[in-house]
Amino acid sequence: PVQKAIPKIPKAQYGGRHTVTMLPGGGIGSELMNYVREIFRYAGVPVDFEVLDIDPNSESNDDWDNAITSIKRNGVAIKGNIETKSEQIGIISRNVALRNELGLYVNVLHCKSYPGVRCHHKDVDLVVVRQNTEGEYAMLEHESVSGVVESLKIITVEASERLARFAFNYARTNGRKKVTTIHKANIMKLSDGCFLETSRRIAKEFPDIKHDDMIIDNTCMQLVARPAQFDVLLTTNLYGSITSNVICGLIGGAGLYSGRNYGDHYAVFEPGTRNTGTSIAGKNICNPFAMLNASVDMLNHLGHTQHAQAIEAAIYDTIVVDKIHTADLGGTASTTDCIQNVLKHLAEKHVSCSTF
Ligand code: ADP
Ligand code: MG
Repeated sequence: PVQKAIPKIPKAQYGGRHTVTMLPGGGIGSELMNYVREIFRYAGVPVDFEVLDIDPNSESNDDWDNAITSIKRNGVAIKGNIETKSEQIGIISRNVALRNELGLYVNVLHCKSYPGVRCHHKDVDLVVVRQNTEGEYAMLEHESVSGVVESLKIITVEASERLARFAFNYARTNGRKKVTTIHKANIMKLSDGCFLETSRRIAKEFPDIKHDDMIIDNTCMQLVARPAQFDVLLTTNLYGSITSNVICGLIGGAGLYSGRNYGDHYAVFEPGTRNTGTSIAGKNICNPFAMLNASVDMLNHLGHTQHAQAIEAAIYDTIVVDKIHTADLGGTASTTDCIQNVLKHLAEKHVSCSTF
């Protein structure tokens, strides 16, 4: 039997409306979330947000605890990049802690080119399936003696296996043909070796999906030279972050693509390359589409597919047909120009509060 790639996750719903946790985070997060809310309000999307700001300078953990409790209650969240105050060793990044606490073991980044966007490669259509809770992000580091630092990279068969199974199921249910395991098992023979061997074992359960593997170094070179050779990339946490950024960089940068985080119980949606954008905050210049695409992913996850399609089409028309591009794409549009144009398309298609 064909297993669904995306786990069935409970959602908070009352009278047809969903409640979703919204964590704006730092930098450009709050302005982007305001646009998400504006568009949802305009389109009559039946979603209520529980907005929680986490003060990175607060001495107490209350904001943080409330955020986690809220996601556990609602099952679904949309987030920006959350800042962690302390640079102190032993303090775990809150973004990492959130993924760990909610068991969000997989990050899915689907990168599909928008025609007409300034880019290094056209017609890219790749999916990165990234391990999201272990590997180099264990944040277990110490200085064993002065001048000697050890950093632990954790790879388990259990996490590697369910990630691999997710990737192959995703490939199968989304019409993909090939999964490539990205690793450095020639050097990290035990850790990456475990990840690679596990993916080879799981691949046997999916004879309809081609499987191969590639060393991370060569992967970066091949991505830059000939990205069309890849289909689904299955990879550990750090290599996933690197390859995601390389791919986004090839086809338009940090402002366009969204990423999805799944576990057995919760789903969290965010911009794909997880940037804070501190230097561009509050200037009406940031590209809003990565966050808007995250909101579309969220609507699809909740089953509000008509609203998702309407907003997705308005985003596509704004970028591809009207070519309303912010500075990061070489354009001159402001963030609000983009949003106004999305609203205009929704109005033209008569998508407003009463449509659906
Ligand atoms: P990090 O949060 O990882 O430190 P940055 O916030 O510095 O990353 O983002 C990396 C780069 O991407 C910066 O040049 C930033 O301006 C740019 N960037 C990130 N998000 C956006 C966006 N939404 N629109 C335009 N540029 C963006
Ligand atoms: Mg940063």
